[in-house]
Amino acid sequence: MRKVQPRYARVCECAHANYDMENLMEKIISLAKRRGFIFQSSEIYGGFSSCYDFGPLGVEMKNNIKRAWWDEMTKNQEGIVGLDAAILMSPRVWQASGHLTAGFADELVECKSCHKRFRADEVRSTKYEETKKKSSNLQTSDFRIRRCPECGGELTEPRKFNLMMKTFVGPVENEASLTYLRAETCQGIYMNFENVLNSMRLKIPFGIAQIGKAFRNEINPKDFIYRVREFEQMEMQWFCRPSASKTPRNRRGTKRGTDAEEKNNWGPDEWFEYWKKERLNWYLKLGIKKENLRIVEIPEKERAHYAKRQIDIEYKFPFGWHEIEGIHNRGDFDLKNHSKFSGQDLSYFDEETGEKYIPYIIETSGGVDRSFLVFLVDAYQEIKGGRTKTTKATKEIEILLKIDKKLAPIKIAVLPLVRNKPELVKKATEVYQMLKPYFACQYDELGSIGRRYRRLDEIGVPFALTIDFESLKQDDLTIRDRDTMIQERVKIKDLVKVLKERLEN
Ligand code: ATP
Repeated sequence: MRKVQPRYARVCECAHANYDMENLMEKIISLAKRRGFIFQSSEIYGGFSSCYDFGPLGVEMKNNIKRAWWDEMTKNQEGIVGLDAAILMSPRVWQASGHLTAGFADELVECKSCHKRFRADEVRSTKYEETKKKSSNLQTSDFRIRRCPECGGELTEPRKFNLMMKTFVGPVENEASLTYLRAETCQGIYMNFENVLNSMRLKIPFGIAQIGKAFRNEINPKDFIYRVREFEQMEMQWFCRPSASKTPRNRRGTKRGTDAEEKNNWGPDEWFEYWKKERLNWYLKLGIKKENLRIVEIPEKERAHYAKRQIDIEYKFPFGWHEIEGIHNRGDFDLKNHSKFSGQDLSYFDEETGEKYIPYIIETSGGVDRSFLVFLVDAYQEIKGGRTKTTKATKEIEILLKIDKKLAPIKIAVLPLVRNKPELVKKATEVYQMLKPYFACQYDELGSIGRRYRRLDEIGVPFALTIDFESLKQDDLTIRDRDTMIQERVKIKDLVKVLKERLEN
């Protein structure tokens, strides 16, 4: 949530060392549009600021990211169930959560000459970056910047700007029908804490996971899909004891129990450390380079209003290190406030120990759109002269999207060696129809085979299947691996099994 943070170091030293960093974002934005990942919203009307549409490849990849997160949380982890709450909620939710007050507001400054508006922490950060080298105790909030970064004009004093998006429910637009588009998905989880607890007969500790849209009236949306006004969050709220058990118990009565029994005794500090590690590992497991990820502990002064402890997982984007996910110890802030405002007791009774308490919450809060950008940027490679030395392509720059197989929008491409031989086209079409129900497939017959391979590399297709003249005799084809470019012959009857294995490993 809101916090003051140094932003926008322009130069990226090592993360994507081979590229011209200034242009890398432009290249990625261009690729995203050219190949159907992301389009500007309402483009024929000149675009709609900070809103983007995910194209045919974009929606596949976005769904794959969400699926990977959902599987990680609900299948690979213990004790987490899912939820899909409504975007619109009672406005009282937002009163209780603190979102209608200064807690959910950015500081805004406006240029008196060009009237451009900025987040105060962003305009402070340049000065901060310069001076921090001399004194490590400084915080961005220690700086007052009076000049517009665009035209040098004088800036107004910072004023608070609330980020909640208003809307009206029903035919009459007045105070009584006013509510808000949710600014974070987690409030829907708190609203359903008791419903889920009771209907699923859960015991603490347990978690509720949710993926859904959130809206923030950002002052200065920028950096493509990094900061937008409409985005998706992947959030998990972990409900646990307010403190570690002082008299650790386990069912066998021994000093040390099983791993699961040990964990039952953990308090928020232990769970915070656990989730910090798990969430960082998720990005690593999906192929993000270790050197492009870091964890930043947020000092008390800069934390979100509800957070007792907060770390950000940051990624080294071409435009600097920036948050992609936050882990927060929210304490009992949310359930306590919702109990108070609603008059419903949201405390938990532990039948085994006889204790009654308001559970603490450890939150993992990531963005689908920011993750999407991370996976795109991290996978992007340019190879001067190309990888294939046998084709005419050697003078060109080849683009390779080395994205994890799980996330790749298209898994398999089926290619007849040439398109003017009906027998090859017929066989390739049959293979394509056979694979389509199992995998996200593409059929491509246009251009030379080398050019087609490069087109597929550019969108990160892990396997390209080529039907050649040998295929007509042997009923087999070649599988080309995107990363190694090694081609192997496989019998068509074994294809589904072989591809399933390769995509899973
Ligand atoms: P920032 O400081 O960058 O504005 P935040 O600290 O306010 O982010 P949180 O409230 O912790 O963000 O939200 C959790 C996650 O939701 C973020 O880590 C990010 O991935 C995503 N998110 C938040 N705001 C936006 C936005 N405007 N555009 C895209 N994703 C966002």
